[in-house]
Amino acid sequence: APYQDVDLHEGLKATLVMLSRRIGPDVQLVKDFDRTLPKVPAYAAELNQVWTNLIDNALAAMGGRGTLTVRTARDGECALVEIGDTGPGIPADLRERIFEPFFTTKPVGEGTGLGLDISWRIVVTKHGGDIRVLSEPGDTRFQVRLPLVAPVT
Ligand code: ADP
Ligand code: MG
Repeated sequence: APYQDVDLHEGLKATLVMLSRRIGPDVQLVKDFDRTLPKVPAYAAELNQVWTNLIDNALAAMGGRGTLTVRTARDGECALVEIGDTGPGIPADLRERIFEPFFTTKPVGEGTGLGLDISWRIVVTKHGGDIRVLSEPGDTRFQVRLPLVAPVT
């Protein structure tokens, strides 16, 4: 199927609405959108799966208290979407394993360990983009970069 022209803000807003019941009274939501960001060639439904995974993880990490930040910006030839949380962070020794399928630190029944594996495949394999994680206690950011011009396949 061909890429669509995707408005990233629409997908992010729809995902936040879908997850709104999970954003409790002690979670502050900060939206910092770059309104000049152009549409990107992408698969909208699959990107929404990525935003859902990343925001779900951020909310889980904060345990109901903290600040969830959803930021967009242009970064060179890419659109940048950053999901940030103020949770405890990801220890350095786990950071390289979190994208492995079935890797989870959640109790049995709460996490499948597939969210980041699927997100990686959608962003990197299907869109030619990139996911990076920056994490220290109280400041974790998952950065997704998507090419503004469709990669030649
Ligand atoms: P799951 O959410 O089912 O555990 P994921 O692939 O989405 O699977 O995430 C894998 C693991 O990465 C999580 O179990 C958790 O240990 C870690 N992780 C992901 N996002 C965050 C985050 N924002 N803060 C802290 N740890 C995280
Ligand atoms: Mg997850």
